[in-house]
This record gives sequence, structure tokens and C-alpha cells, in this order.
Amino acid sequence: MKKKIIVPRGTADILPEHIYHWQHLERTARECLRCYGFCEMRTPIFEETALFRRSLGQTSDVVNKQLLELASEKESKLALRPEGTASVVRSYIENNLHRSEAISRLFYLGPMFRGERPQKGRLRQFHQIGAEVIGPACVHPYIDAELIALSVSILKDIGLMGFQLKLNTLGSPEDKDRFAILLRKNLEGQRAALCEDCQNRFDRNVFRILDCKHRECRAIVAQIEMGHRYLSPESADYYAQVKEALMQLGVDFEECPQLVRGLDYYTHTVFEISDASLGSQDALGAGGRYNNLVQQLGGAQVDAIGFALGMERILLALPEESLLPKESNLDVYGIALNEASMVKAFVLQAALREEGMATIMHYQLGSLKSQMRAANKSGARFALILGESELERQVVTLKNMSQGGQQEISIAQAPYTALFNAINIKDV
Ligand code: AMP
Repeated sequence: MKKKIIVPRGTADILPEHIYHWQHLERTARECLRCYGFCEMRTPIFEETALFRRSLGQTSDVVNKQLLELASEKESKLALRPEGTASVVRSYIENNLHRSEAISRLFYLGPMFRGERPQKGRLRQFHQIGAEVIGPACVHPYIDAELIALSVSILKDIGLMGFQLKLNTLGSPEDKDRFAILLRKNLEGQRAALCEDCQNRFDRNVFRILDCKHRECRAIVAQIEMGHRYLSPESADYYAQVKEALMQLGVDFEECPQLVRGLDYYTHTVFEISDASLGSQDALGAGGRYNNLVQQLGGAQVDAIGFALGMERILLALPEESLLPKESNLDVYGIALNEASMVKAFVLQAALREEGMATIMHYQLGSLKSQMRAANKSGARFALILGESELERQVVTLKNMSQGGQQEISIAQAPYTALFNAINIKDV
């Protein structure tokens, strides 16, 4: 027997019985993003590897351990995108979007790829909803607060309630340097007790130690008196205004001085949204300000802030009652009882489709009972029955599947939509 080929590890098929939930999430997110003035952007799912190396930082796990590179004979290496921000910024610069608008509000929806060890809630191909605000004039505490409120709105609108928003600031790049020195000073004495990864992170990217999941590292980190001593008065004031604006919008948050986010490009506001019901992989989404990334990638000095939400995790966290019931999108199920009526029904389907109705039919001549069973299973609103007697009189029998009523209509009476709807109303 030939070996069965199965879906690659860390990826998943989204089957028709689940696609409703995905589509509902996508619709909800798009509607929310529209209300905040965002426009969709689509970028390729692979880019030059250098883009990710330059934007995410050489020391981030995403670049060091998780980048899925494509075999390429050409000089420039290509990698599947592990996140969306780098591509959006690359495209923003390449297409000179700063010339067409002072502030660009962009969003994307789509698959991301990371070569991680798969587990529940952690996949190699997963999907994100992301939003970015980019522009030469886009530093204002209200912009930070509004973007955070947007991410919270998407989660609330889809039906999530038990999540928690954590907030922090890293300050300006100079503040961040002071923060790094402070952290190293606090951790130096216990460097040997840190896990192997964190011992490397100590010099390369000390902030990542705050994210480490190892129990020993967490215990060491918990003892550090974090505070915001590294912040300049201007950065502290900016942070205070972001918090005030969030309060005005009624967005609940918890300050979390240990929240730093793993990627190099963040400055000032950072945030993360988690849901305890998800277990160990509890992050629903995260984001922050990245005022220097555009320039770092060869663009002008423009400011930016963004977030990404994980779609799989949102759907995992949704309570049963928030999931939409599966609905059939079929209007009509055609049933023919002999060869001649099958030809007629086959052609009739084309007329129904031209009117915008969704219809399929049973191409095997079986008993009326067995075909009705199939019609029932399909979830179609109507069964359209054509047998010898109907064909002789040039009519079809239409049966309302949910209410049971039935009626004959003349085949010559097109258009049919109004007739169908009349049966619906009559039978209610
Ligand atoms: P990140 O860019 O790592 O902060 O990711 C943003 C969000 O995407 C996370 O909060 C998760 O919800 C989701 N996410 C990240 N990595 C994965 C993964 N490997 N599998 C599933 N979801 C993920």
C-alpha cells in the first residue's frame, strides 16, 4: 500500500464545516477596521530574507530559529514571511505612500510562517489580522490609544470577553539603551543561573530575558525592581497621555513593566493581549510603536505603530455560543425522477443561477425518498422536484424544506425568485 500523504506538521486544513467561523471573524474584523478608517493591503507571502533580518533584528528568535527560507539558486535569498509589518513597511517605502497621504492606515489578513515546534495554539502556518498606522505625522498619544482600542474592539465584536490587555513603554531608543544597561546591572550577579538561551541573550538582546518561559529565569526576572527609571521626562509624559486616552475610551488595561516584546524594532508603547483560557500559548495578539523601522529599511524618518492578532487563537478562545451555527448557502436542491426530467432540471438550474440562486442537483436517478433525504442533508431551502407528470404539464413541484409546504409553478413563469419567495411567505 502506498504511504498516505498528510498535511505538513504544524499546518492545518480549514474544512468547510469550520470556514464559517473564519469568514465570520474576517467580516467582523474588516467591519471594525473600516470604522477606524483602515484600508487593506496585500503583499507577497515571501520576501527577501534580508528584509526580515534587517527589520526584526538578528537576535530575535523569529529570525534566528524560525525563518523558513526557500531554496533559491539566485543570489538573493527568499523566506516565507514570519509576520506582516516588515512587508507592509517595505511596500510603504517602495510605493512612496508617504507622498499620497500624511498618515496611512493599513491592514492585512493572511498566513504567516514560522519554523516552530508545533503544539496547541502554535503552528508553522498560522493566520494574522494586522493593522499599521504609518506616516510622517503619526506620533500622538491618541493614535496609540486608538490603535489599541481597535484591537480590543475586534476581539469584543467577535465575542471574546475574558482577555487581558497588558501595556508598557520602552521609551525612545536612548531610553531603551538605558533600560538595557539597567537590566544587565540587575541580572549580572545571577547570569550563571539563567538558562543557556538567556545567557546568550544577556549580551545580544537582554530584553528577551524578560520573555523567557523557563521557571528559573522567570524567578530571577520577578525580583528585578523594574519601574520606569530609564524613561526621559518626555517619554514618561507620552506614556501617561496614552494611558489617559485609553481610560477616556473606556479600554481596560493592566500596566506590565516587564512587557518588552521580542522584536528589535519596538520603541515607546508596547502592548499584548492574552487570554488565560488558552493555556501556555495564551497571547491573542500584540503590537507597539516602531518609530525607526521605516528609516532603518531605507525610507524617510516616519513614525509608525501596529499590531497583529492571531486568528487561530481567537477562534480557539471563542466560547461555543459565540460560534455561528453552520448554515447552508444553498437555495435549491434539484431532484429529477427520470432521464427526460433530468435534462429539463439541469437546464433550469442555469436559469436559477442567473437569478442569483445557489443550486445543485442529484445526478443519480434514485427514489424520491432517497433524493429527498439528500436534499434535506444539503440544507437547501427548497427541493425542486421534476417527474414524469410535472414534465408533461411543464411545471415543477417546489417544496419548502424547513416549513414543509409545497406548490407547483410553471416552468414558463421565469423569473422565479419572486415565486420562490412567495412560497416562503405563504408557508410561514
Ligand atoms: P507575534 O508577532 O509573535 O507577537 O504574534 C502575534 C500573534 O500571532 C500572537 O499573539 C499569536 O496570537 C499569533 N501567533 C504568533 N505565532 C504563532 C504561531 N506559531 N501559531 C499560531 N499563532 C501564532
